[in-house]
Amino acid sequence: MNEEKKSLNFLEQIIEEDLTNGLPKEKLRFRFPPEPNGYLHIGHAASICLNFGLGLKYNAPVNLRFDDTNPAKEEQEYVDAIKHDISWLGFKWDKELYSSNYFQQLYDWAVELIKEGKAYVDNQTSEEMAIQKGTPTEAGTNSPNRNRPIEENLDLFLQMKNGELAEGSHVLRAKIDMGHVNMHMRDPIMYRILKKYHHRTGNDWCIYPMYDWTHGESDYIEQISHSICTLEFKSHRDLYDWYIEQVYDPTKLKPKQREFARRNLSYTVMSKRKLLQLVEEGIVTGWDDPRMPTISGLRRRGYTPASIRNFSDTAGISKRDNVTDVALLEFCIKDDLNKTAPRVMAVLNPVKVVITNYPEGKEEFLEASYNDYEEGFGSRAVPFSREIYIEKEDFREEANKKFFRLKLGKEVRLKNAYIIKAESCLKDENGEVTEIHCTYDEDSRSGSGSEASKRKVKGTLHWVSIKHAIKAEVRVYDRLFTDEAPDGHKDKDFKEFINPNSLQVIDAFVEPSLQNANILDRFQFQRLGYFCVDKDTSKNKLIFNRTVPLRDSWTKKEK
Ligand code: ATP
Ligand code: MG
Repeated sequence: MNEEKKSLNFLEQIIEEDLTNGLPKEKLRFRFPPEPNGYLHIGHAASICLNFGLGLKYNAPVNLRFDDTNPAKEEQEYVDAIKHDISWLGFKWDKELYSSNYFQQLYDWAVELIKEGKAYVDNQTSEEMAIQKGTPTEAGTNSPNRNRPIEENLDLFLQMKNGELAEGSHVLRAKIDMGHVNMHMRDPIMYRILKKYHHRTGNDWCIYPMYDWTHGESDYIEQISHSICTLEFKSHRDLYDWYIEQVYDPTKLKPKQREFARRNLSYTVMSKRKLLQLVEEGIVTGWDDPRMPTISGLRRRGYTPASIRNFSDTAGISKRDNVTDVALLEFCIKDDLNKTAPRVMAVLNPVKVVITNYPEGKEEFLEASYNDYEEGFGSRAVPFSREIYIEKEDFREEANKKFFRLKLGKEVRLKNAYIIKAESCLKDENGEVTEIHCTYDEDSRSGSGSEASKRKVKGTLHWVSIKHAIKAEVRVYDRLFTDEAPDGHKDKDFKEFINPNSLQVIDAFVEPSLQNANILDRFQFQRLGYFCVDKDTSKNKLIFNRTVPLRDSWTKKEK
């Protein structure tokens, strides 16, 4: 194998083989097939990046196909959100399609199958059918309706379609083999009666096709060359092939289903059913709650499209089930924001500092670069005055040599400003420091070029001028679950592992340049982490979400 082949993932290798065996390159076509019954999550992002990535790599079209065969759970809201998320991730689909576009074609084909004696109407109860299904090691038994005359099947199927039969009373089944080793081949259900309004076809239909019947035929209709799905469908592949075989025209392309392992992420749940529970039970504020593993939640949290694409690529695809460490996702966003986010100052846990030798009433606007290490970020003026806030944790009356922050009798540099020295402090009745009195070295202003400005002191602190600072709400998020695999416990519900402290709301002070920040703007708050403007922000109230801290407090907590 040459070097290039070796670096291909197993799906790319399959495609390369097909091309070598004569599949014309222009026949390559992929699809991403979401069911519009919830918002997309980081697992879907794996499938999106994979399918659209193949499209880009082979210059092949990728369809967005809504797999909308279950009217009970599907809604237009989800369709809109899914389209928005895929576009936001940076991908363009070729055609926007819906399985429901094919309801008539699927119906016509089903009638053909009945005529060929390959499908029949069964009116047993689901319990009866379940018993006849057999087990993985025992063959099933034939339904007493299996040999119903073709005419009667056609008539009953028409009655099903016309709404003349009750929901749950009849199904259409493919007549394959009740003794097949693959249980999916034991006369699977093709249609059920559901008298439900469909978000696209309205009340046109009261029978709806099952997933397997729909999916393979939709791939065939769209001439998808490689239909990539997750591992749980591996055992459906026989049925996928059988259904396509029934309608196959040899001048056309036969789609190929191949499977890869789902993306699982530690410390979260990913199934839409469970995410919906979190939303409906008010455990989170919505699908886009910044603690959710949804694309919309991650976006609101401050994640960039590039970080999610990079995460998907780095985690890669696998043939076996596995769990990806959420730390990798956090690494990817830190890595991106480290390069792209402007750096500003905010104080989350303030204590007042009075610079006693700084003239009262004086204010200065100090030039401060948005990034000291990279060109091109520009700068802003940061106001300085006699009274400032620093973080409470950045001051101690006494501390050992390793404490490079402010302590009595010692100096630190204020970022972009002066060197100050702590002289004394005031405390309340509980011994808590309420005010620190410092002096400053007038000649030490950063960037002034003076000898004192070049003086090395060990610590540099961020700060805001009290008179100029803006109050902001900061929402500090922690993982939503305390357990690495919340839905991996047989005897416990995943909700038992909800982290009660996953949201902390803080009144913070931020530098005035942030006054005009827009929703979704991202910043590094120096020495603290990455933050992004939340959509709840209004004219009178700035709200930030913490995307990730600079350092990972979680691993420290665990040790
Ligand atoms: P869920 O179990 O979360 O409800 P789903 O498989 O029912 O997911 P679909 O809307 O049917 O969700 O998925 C659309 C596509 O995304 C499918 O091809 C599916 O295989 C893929 N997909 C869904 N979840 C994941 C995941 N965790 N990792 C990788 N691909 C996924
Ligand atoms: Mg599904």
